[in-house]
Amino acid sequence: MEEKPHLTGLTRQELAEFVKALGEPSYRADQILRGIRGRRVRDVEGLTDLPKAFREKLSETASVSSLKVLSKYVSEDGTRRYLMETAAGHPVETVFIPTENRDTICFSSQSGCPLKCDFCLTAKLGLLSNLTAGEIVEQIIIVLNDVYGEGNETPHGTNLVAMGAGEPFLNFDELLKAVRILSEENGLHIVPRRITVSTAGIVPKILEFAELETRPNLAISLSAPNDELRGRLMPINRKWNIEELLSAAKTFQNTLRRGETFTFEYVLLDGVNDSPETARELAELLKSHGLQKAKVNLIAHNAADPLPYGPPSAENVARFKSILESEGIPAYVRTPRGRDIFAACGQLAAKKEAAITSA
Ligand code: SF4
Repeated sequence: MEEKPHLTGLTRQELAEFVKALGEPSYRADQILRGIRGRRVRDVEGLTDLPKAFREKLSETASVSSLKVLSKYVSEDGTRRYLMETAAGHPVETVFIPTENRDTICFSSQSGCPLKCDFCLTAKLGLLSNLTAGEIVEQIIIVLNDVYGEGNETPHGTNLVAMGAGEPFLNFDELLKAVRILSEENGLHIVPRRITVSTAGIVPKILEFAELETRPNLAISLSAPNDELRGRLMPINRKWNIEELLSAAKTFQNTLRRGETFTFEYVLLDGVNDSPETARELAELLKSHGLQKAKVNLIAHNAADPLPYGPPSAENVARFKSILESEGIPAYVRTPRGRDIFAACGQLAAKKEAAITSA
């Protein structure tokens, strides 16, 4: 059976073509967009700008939502993790992280992940499916509705990070389409500069990303300063080694424009990559590639069974940061959020424990 088009995943242009094919005037596309993106409606019935007859026709030919929320988990620190399911039954996880100044939504680009980072629970799932642009956008809509209420305006300043399950650069086209939809006119008003995409190091895509006229911010997950260690922690390093990765990173850095950010992510694992020697080796590596201006985000590993690593001590984290800073490299420690509900970095694995509320 042919799948109905998912209107949430259509660009404005595609939607205009879709309504035209149904014999409707082009302003119907804007009416639909005002409903789906402006009021964040999740069913055809809610598109009340449209005449009833057209709504009936639409519900036969298209869908507005495809994700189903199975559970919502609320952390004691206010973080929320949503476990959803695609129409094909694949799990999708999204995390809402509130802070005093701005809220962040961490979304997934794939169900599961084909990469096998040794410190990440998602890796254990393998790749279940690539998410469509509609499924990516819908995650944001679902979270915004839950947090701010359906129909209420999206607060300016909400940040999005593609750091949930999956390697976004292995789902490049759908990811970029979702970014376009999120920032289009009549949209959710989330401009690309409020979005950060994190890659484990898909080198050809970093180079392609560097060429884009409009693009989100970039983060590269590094987590080790040499090929021997990185190859063990992140097997993708065996395909594109550190030299190739940093050369692509340098190319990207050379194209940075005002307001864009570029960071390295570094997951600190107790006794594995958190020593002073490793910090100095990392500083040397970045400096030797002219990348010392890129910010380094230090993320203390979130221990979770059956991962074979422990979290670094607070002392090691502070020492690692101060060594990088003493070498002139801006380093920040990312505070872990939502550990108690398996929402923290590396913990997303469709866990069903600790359900506190159902969405
Ligand atoms: S860290 Fe990211 S890229 Fe690596 S296995 Fe986990 S989800 Fe995939």
